[in-house]
Amino acid sequence: MREPLIVANNVRKSYDMAAGPLHILKGADFSLEDGGMAFILGRSGSGKSTLLHLLGGLDTLSSGKIHFQGEDMTRLNERQLAHIRNQKMGFVFQFYHLLPELTVYENVILPLMIAGKKDSNWVKEMLRRVKLFERRDHYPNELSGGERQRVAIARALANRPAVAFCDEPTGNLDEETADSVFALLNDLHKRDGQAFVIVTHDESLAWRYPNVVYRLHDGVLVKEDRGHTSFQKG
Ligand code: ADP
Ligand code: MG
Repeated sequence: MREPLIVANNVRKSYDMAAGPLHILKGADFSLEDGGMAFILGRSGSGKSTLLHLLGGLDTLSSGKIHFQGEDMTRLNERQLAHIRNQKMGFVFQFYHLLPELTVYENVILPLMIAGKKDSNWVKEMLRRVKLFERRDHYPNELSGGERQRVAIARALANRPAVAFCDEPTGNLDEETADSVFALLNDLHKRDGQAFVIVTHDESLAWRYPNVVYRLHDGVLVKEDRGHTSFQKG
């Protein structure tokens, strides 16, 4: 049994609206082992991004606990959370968020430079891993959507994070490109033991890989049992 990397217990999140509180998460439990890969499925508006932001220390819980590498994240201040995010977490979003005035290489090395560890060899290796080494001097607007997302993935992993959080990483891509991005994430997981938490509404892609699948529904997470799902692989 590997060490738990993330353990979330009874996570609740509500937003105070003029019309009264909006309860998004109502006691969600989640765990990920070191080097694990988990998918979170759920309908639009079910709270997937909210949950991912809480796991990644980008937002604060209403109640409950999240432990990251044994540390109680709810007890950390913003400076401590920022340190963990920068040193131990990577983030990939639907819309890449690359800096248009920087090249592929510069986009990927930037977080390392900010963290004060400019490891150019590793950045080049990451660019080879995502098959963009030949395109390293190109600018984001010279790349396709899938290529841009691969840059974002290389950037998220440049810091060798303990976990990478991906929020709808293929939400803006056509099916074939989405397929290749998922294959890449799976490859990075298998080959490097990279841990991932991947939010997606793409059921068929999630089920293609032998990982833990959670479904967020009515504010709680339910672990889906591969053997008892009605979903048919397409
Ligand atoms: P998903 O990612 O599953 O589509 P979200 O986590 O983005 O869902 O949002 C879940 C619900 O929480 C939605 O109804 C959304 O409108 C609401 N919500 C998200 N962020 C805020 C916020 N800052 N203030 C108020 N409501 C929010
Ligand atoms: Mg979302």
